[in-house]
Amino acid sequence: MDFVLRNARIEAGGGLVDIGLAGGRIAAMEPGLRCEAPERDAEGRFVFPGFVDVHIHLDKACILDRCTVCEGTLSEAVRETARAKAAFTQDDVYRRAAGVVDMAILQGTLALRTFVEVDPRAGLRSLEAILRLKADTADAIDIEICAFAQEGLTQEPETGAMLAQALGLGADLVGGCPYTDPDPIAHVAGIFDLAERFGTGADFHVDFDLDPDGSALPAIIAETGRRRYGGRVSVGHATKLSAMAPEAAEAVGRRLADAGIALTVLPATDLFLTGRDRTRLVPRGVAPAHLMKRLGVTATIATNNVLNPFTPFGDASLIRMANLYANVAQLARDDEMEAVFAMVSCDAAKLMGRDDGLRVGGPADLVLLDATGPADAVRGIAQPLASWKTGRLVMERPAGTIHRAAGATRPRVAFGRAAEGFDA
Ligand SMILES: [Zn+2]
Repeated sequence: MDFVLRNARIEAGGGLVDIGLAGGRIAAMEPGLRCEAPERDAEGRFVFPGFVDVHIHLDKACILDRCTVCEGTLSEAVRETARAKAAFTQDDVYRRAAGVVDMAILQGTLALRTFVEVDPRAGLRSLEAILRLKADTADAIDIEICAFAQEGLTQEPETGAMLAQALGLGADLVGGCPYTDPDPIAHVAGIFDLAERFGTGADFHVDFDLDPDGSALPAIIAETGRRRYGGRVSVGHATKLSAMAPEAAEAVGRRLADAGIALTVLPATDLFLTGRDRTRLVPRGVAPAHLMKRLGVTATIATNNVLNPFTPFGDASLIRMANLYANVAQLARDDEMEAVFAMVSCDAAKLMGRDDGLRVGGPADLVLLDATGPADAVRGIAQPLASWKTGRLVMERPAGTIHRAAGATRPRVAFGRAAEGFDA
């Protein structure tokens, strides 16, 4: 055994176990594990296989200093970012992206899927930077790269050829954005053509407005079925689902589940950009991921943008995003919080085809959260205290400490919670 994490809670309300790691795998998971390896006491805190950010844009993160945000609309964000993008250099993209990857690692994320724009403005500079970063940080985080047509395809045929080049250079999958294309249906088909040609998955930004009509989802569902692509397709935003009548949204959810298409909601961006035409009672514009999950859809929550005109906020924290979603979706019960936690952990892992639970023989990827379980973590935006990737300690930070005056008698209670496992 190389290391043992003792007294870990691996399921809500479950007992404590010791997790033994050896050769980059989980070698044992049981109470009172007898061995001499170096150890750490989790003190009853929750341990899980790490957050998975299935939708983030590393290439255009941290550019608020070079953009103007006046309207806060989607069209302004696309326009401002396109202008900034033309001046991106490989080193500039690398530096900004590396900063965000470090933020994500410190937030307990062990895998992410980044979109990287490939078009006549970005050239292949952003892609080359992110490929370099992926190799340079492989010891700490798994990065999947989605070559992305943010600004359309059919009206700019060079983009299709460049996406093919990107897939040849090592991009892991291809992404489309039918809402910026004058011919959204042909756009969807074009992205599927590329995915089929290179044998990769496909990920679409779709339905990013609050008109319940005119969804691109039927076209994506049809192509997924026709090409037998179930399980390899995901869609992000789908904010139209928040504007549809419940029966209509449920019908779409059933079709997504049947087709094997995963859904990702991006609460920070969806809240910031939608409903800008309203002066009061501003709609939330966040697709009901928890209802879609109940229908059998692989539903996930992700970061999307960090500090740019699409989202002028961000710290790459998925537990904060889960909390934001639960708050906006007006959830309350423990089982609802646990479902939301799954959307940034095991369901997100499933979307990316990763191991989705702790098991003996599985990869020694662990994150220690300052919480007693997933519901507690979502409610309190629990801080990650340490993470291990293939058995190696990747990150650690101290739990908060309150220093009391000499002679003070009140017992220690962590973060206001007198939960089991926390009392001194
Ligand atoms: Zn996005």
